[in-house]
Amino acid sequence: MNTTDTTDTTSTTARGAALREGFIRTYGSAPEGIWRAPGRVNLMGEHTDYNLGFVLPFAIDKNALVAVRRRTANEASPRLLEFASTYGGTTGPLPVTGIELDALAPGNVPGWAAYPAAVAYVLGQLPGVQLSGFELLVDSDVPVGSGLSSSHAIEVGTIVALNDLFGLELDATAMARLTQRAENGFVGAPTGIMDQSASLMSRAEHALFLDCRSLASHTVPLPLAAQDTAVLVIDTRVEHSHVDGGYAARRASCEQAAVALGVESLREITEVALLDRLEPELRRRARHIVTENQRVLDTVKALEASDLREVGRLLRASHVSMRDDYEISCPELDLAVQASLAAGAIGARMTGGGFGGSAIALIAVERIPAASASIRRAFAQAGYAEPSIFTVNAAEGAGRA
Ligand code: ADP
Ligand code: MG
Repeated sequence: MNTTDTTDTTSTTARGAALREGFIRTYGSAPEGIWRAPGRVNLMGEHTDYNLGFVLPFAIDKNALVAVRRRTANEASPRLLEFASTYGGTTGPLPVTGIELDALAPGNVPGWAAYPAAVAYVLGQLPGVQLSGFELLVDSDVPVGSGLSSSHAIEVGTIVALNDLFGLELDATAMARLTQRAENGFVGAPTGIMDQSASLMSRAEHALFLDCRSLASHTVPLPLAAQDTAVLVIDTRVEHSHVDGGYAARRASCEQAAVALGVESLREITEVALLDRLEPELRRRARHIVTENQRVLDTVKALEASDLREVGRLLRASHVSMRDDYEISCPELDLAVQASLAAGAIGARMTGGGFGGSAIALIAVERIPAASASIRRAFAQAGYAEPSIFTVNAAEGAGRA
């Protein structure tokens, strides 16, 4: 474990103690436990998950802590669910969203509470599963809407907590599929399986290679510290939303391309030449998916060979593909990548769903202070909001805190 991991553990412990206090203030009694679910960055493989292709994310040392207490049969409302979050400040009483377990229906829980409610809903529908009401409080330091998957950290924190408390014995793959069902069917965001898998299955100091068709996965060591290299996140502060049209439109284009090519998913296509018969826009969309899948496989090989130069080249190629073929970048993300490279990063790309959020840069540790300053300067000169810039370490997946 390096020093940053230790710092993270310390801050997670301190946040856990504060969360317990906040829980007692909010609900009047102590939680039964606290669970931790990390956000993630995706090193390679963007929009490939719903095309049943390959991804290579890692969980980061920023996480959601989720405290839960089950209601007992002799309480006044044994089947009431209550949700609160410290997001937006901890002074004064936290607003609580309440709904009866049996009243849960897609679309009927407003705001952020839809995420934990969605998890309760899908679990409640499993044959043989009997939930009771519960109280839940979240405290997350995953930046919201930055493409680091703050939403999945909440869903995953909720599912690992309920899995433990209600003795459901679901494995990580089952929990990944269930949170995807929760998000698609209850929250109404047509997202893939990568983010929750990364939060559930990652290992410290490793990336997670995931085949999104079989859900077979294996960890890949990240030889960063050994080469005095780090992953820098540049959060552009341009908020993206998966519930918006752009993500769904890309997804629809991929489905259309697969139908035109007579395959179940674009995963089946490995030759770019096979895309020639698509009309130009669909061809570009599909070309991103086909080349990005190959870049994931190539990145795994490069990491196994400790060849970070090659990883850097692949990161740069991936950004160009997202900018020009998939068209999910934005001027702020392009500038973050360009300024990082100009400041000596080995490679950089936007990460996450796109249309805003964060970029990542692979960079020598000694260059980080100067690079951060020059990225900030470039943003100021372009008249953009000041980005938030920080390094992330590859952290352990979700579990009891
Ligand atoms: P991302 O997952 O990339 O951060 P999303 O738009 O998918 O962005 O998810 C952000 C949403 O997740 C927020 O609008 C909010 O509903 C919910 N969310 C994230 N973190 C918290 C939190 N700490 N408390 C309450 N809701 C949160
Ligand atoms: Mg999200």
